[in-house]
Parts: sequence; C-alpha cells; structure tokens
Amino acid sequence: MCFCICGYTALKSLVYRIYSLLLFCIAPPFCASCRIFLSERTVLCAACMALVRPIVSLSLQVTRSATVWVHAFAAYQEPLKPLILAKLYGSPIPARQLGQLMSTMPIIQQAEFDYIVPIPLHWTRLAWRGFNQSQEIAQVLSRTSGKPVAHLLKRVKRTTFQSRLSLQERKENVTAAFALASNAQKYSGKRLLLVDDLYTTGTTVRSACTILRELKPASLQIVVACRVM
Ligand SMILES: [Zn+2]
Repeated sequence: MCFCICGYTALKSLVYRIYSLLLFCIAPPFCASCRIFLSERTVLCAACMALVRPIVSLSLQVTRSATVWVHAFAAYQEPLKPLILAKLYGSPIPARQLGQLMSTMPIIQQAEFDYIVPIPLHWTRLAWRGFNQSQEIAQVLSRTSGKPVAHLLKRVKRTTFQSRLSLQERKENVTAAFALASNAQKYSGKRLLLVDDLYTTGTTVRSACTILRELKPASLQIVVACRVM
C-alpha cells in the first residue's frame, strides 16, 4: 500500500516535470513588455516590474449618496499600457497577464466578495474581437480568489470607443448602455466585485454600478488593471 502511494507520488512528480519541460520548450517565458527571456514564468521582468507605478484606491461617486471604491493595480502608462491596448489587435493573452498581475492585489487575496462581475461587451463587438478582455481578467481573478464569475450585466447599446470622446460625450455614450441579465435577481444582496481593464473618467463603471445597485448588493467594489492619472 505504502509502495503504491510512493510510486504514484513519484510518477505524478515525473509527469509534472516533463510537462514543465515541454511547456518551457514550446512556450518559453518572456517578459510581456520588453520580451527579454525569463528564467521563471512571470509576467514582467524585474526591470519592467520596477517601472509599474502603483496608485491609491479612489472613491467614485455613483449617486448623490452612494460611493464605491475603485482599486487599480497601477497607473495607465508603460509598461502596462501595451497590454491594455493589445485587445485592439485580437489577442486575449495580455488581458490574462493583466489578470495575473492583479491577482497579487490585497482585494483579490483577501477575497471579501462573493461574485466577480466582468463589464460586458456588446455582442457585435464581442463577435468582432472574439473575446472580452474584462471576462479574461475576471476568470484569472476567479482562479486566484476561488470566487465565481457571474455575468450579471448585458450591454444593450453599442457604444463608440470612449477614448475618442469628450467627457460630456462619454457620459451620453454610456447612458443606458447596460441592463441586468435575465438571471441577475438571484444574486440580490451579495457582495459584488466589478472588473474592467481600464478606468479613464469612470463613466462606464459608474453606469454599470448604477444598474448593479438595483440588486441591493451587500457591497460593491471595482477593480481595474490600470487607471488613467
Ligand atoms: Zn521586461
């Protein structure tokens, strides 16, 4: 019996080492920013990681009486800016790498929320892009925190890219952009964590929070990869 367990453990260890070696050969680890070869599988090399600029959390006014905390991994600048912009070129991998970086944030490590809610894309944009960067991030955060992803929002209006608009146009652009998903009511009273890749003026997440507040969540917080300073 003891032999069987020891033999199984040794076999499992051998399989893992072979898998790691194959993965190293097929997809060697590179820094996501400067592309330097890395000796271990991390997102950024030490030099690029040193350029990441952490920022303090922000209190966002959602309604006259309600505010929510916006936690950002870092400022929207090098070396993370290209990982955000990569969504425009059809690759979901940088979004997952942002998720890996965000997994180290205290809010994710402490996991004081019940569900992770990604900001949805309109179905036409999802069909064109092939993936939703916020959902890719949410799935990585779910694996780290052990909390499930819940698709509580749907995007009912196809909006123009926010970066091309003035502040007033951004507000009008995302007005009535979201609605609750058909099964959302069963998540009433839960602790929700809204996830997006980039926070610019806050108009998108404010609009999404306004809709989520209809569920009377026990708590509502926002986590983003980057925030424009
Ligand atoms: Zn680097």
